Amino acid sequence: LTESGQSVDLNVVLDKLMNDEEIQPQKGCGDPTMFESFWKWMGERGAIVIPAWQTMSYFSDVTNVCWFLEPEFAKEVRRLHNLVGNAVTDDRYIIAGTGSTQLFQSALYALSPSNASEPINVVSAAPYYSSYPAVTDYLQSGLFRWAGDAYAYKGDKYIELVCSPNNPDGSIRAAVLNSDAGKTVHDLAYYWPQYTPISGPADHDIMLFTVSKSSGHAGTRLGWAIVKDRAVAKKMVKFIELNTIGVSKDSQLRAAKLLKVVSDGYELPNTENRNKFFDYGRRLMTMRWKKLQEAVKNSGIFSLPEFPTGTCKFTGESTGTNPAFAWLKCEKEGVEDCASFLRRHRILTRSGRHFGAEPKYVRVSMLDRDETFQLFIERLSSLN
Ligand code: PMP
Repeated sequence: LTESGQSVDLNVVLDKLMNDEEIQPQKGCGDPTMFESFWKWMGERGAIVIPAWQTMSYFSDVTNVCWFLEPEFAKEVRRLHNLVGNAVTDDRYIIAGTGSTQLFQSALYALSPSNASEPINVVSAAPYYSSYPAVTDYLQSGLFRWAGDAYAYKGDKYIELVCSPNNPDGSIRAAVLNSDAGKTVHDLAYYWPQYTPISGPADHDIMLFTVSKSSGHAGTRLGWAIVKDRAVAKKMVKFIELNTIGVSKDSQLRAAKLLKVVSDGYELPNTENRNKFFDYGRRLMTMRWKKLQEAVKNSGIFSLPEFPTGTCKFTGESTGTNPAFAWLKCEKEGVEDCASFLRRHRILTRSGRHFGAEPKYVRVSMLDRDETFQLFIERLSSLN
């Protein structure tokens, strides 16, 4: 009962609280805390010290198109891509960003025509990463606007966002639209060996990566773009200059060290197996997916997408796909809103609605700490 004597359904209150984006701004967002155990094991090897007099200037290398790019960070980015074989970096521009989220916005800015009478349409094939519509439209730009599902798009001018492996459903994707007047941005945040077999070096006009998903350091807020065209690269850099006058050098130095440790794990002689980050990540992800698949089977009321196995050119082995998110479909009769159903059983997920899909679907992070993941499996297994 409330003070005024009205009766209140506790489930309704709970639903409201759990749904309130102000209270839970990033719930189920894929915080990659799973990788903490690896970095704890690496200890001092992953640490850096920055003397107080260093990284004081705004500038890193004024001769570079990306004048705020730390050369050490760029070197380790190129080195890691060469090692893994997941992206072409020769003769490409590297641009640092405050997370790939800032780079995504800089790409929209760079690809939008500056003299158009209307904003250019931004699309992505559903289900798409829920930040794409939100980030595209939050400032109601006159340059670009969100236009929804790429499959349903009819015009010939657009910016298509291609996320592969895709957040939320883990599918391997290529652009859906193919007009000469259209532009694409490839978000390859999850194109790393712990999540998917590496089929070869990607070579698209604009490719986005981030330490959030590669090494797991989301809090460092650092991403990078690999860009073919100089004019596009310059415009992306201009956006970052206007937006934040560059990108934290401290973060770049930290990221350079982290990427170096990952590459060293494979390239230095006599390294122990447990220093190999991608092997560790893949092992853990494979185990988690096995547990999830068993729990889903036991419950009998959910289904998951099927993933192909493929030869990973990095490991040389045939490996499965272990996406960072589970795209869970509720098959239980009478349950239309899977997120609310799971919430009542104390499992927090993000509704398919946010991704341009039906509420029968939810996205669940596979990257949480062991204790949380274990609880999730236990709770899911007990449902039927
Ligand atoms: N792209 C995709 C597909 C993502 O899933 C995420 C993080 N959830 C991002 C970009 C954002 O990455 P960052 O932390 O580098 O801004």
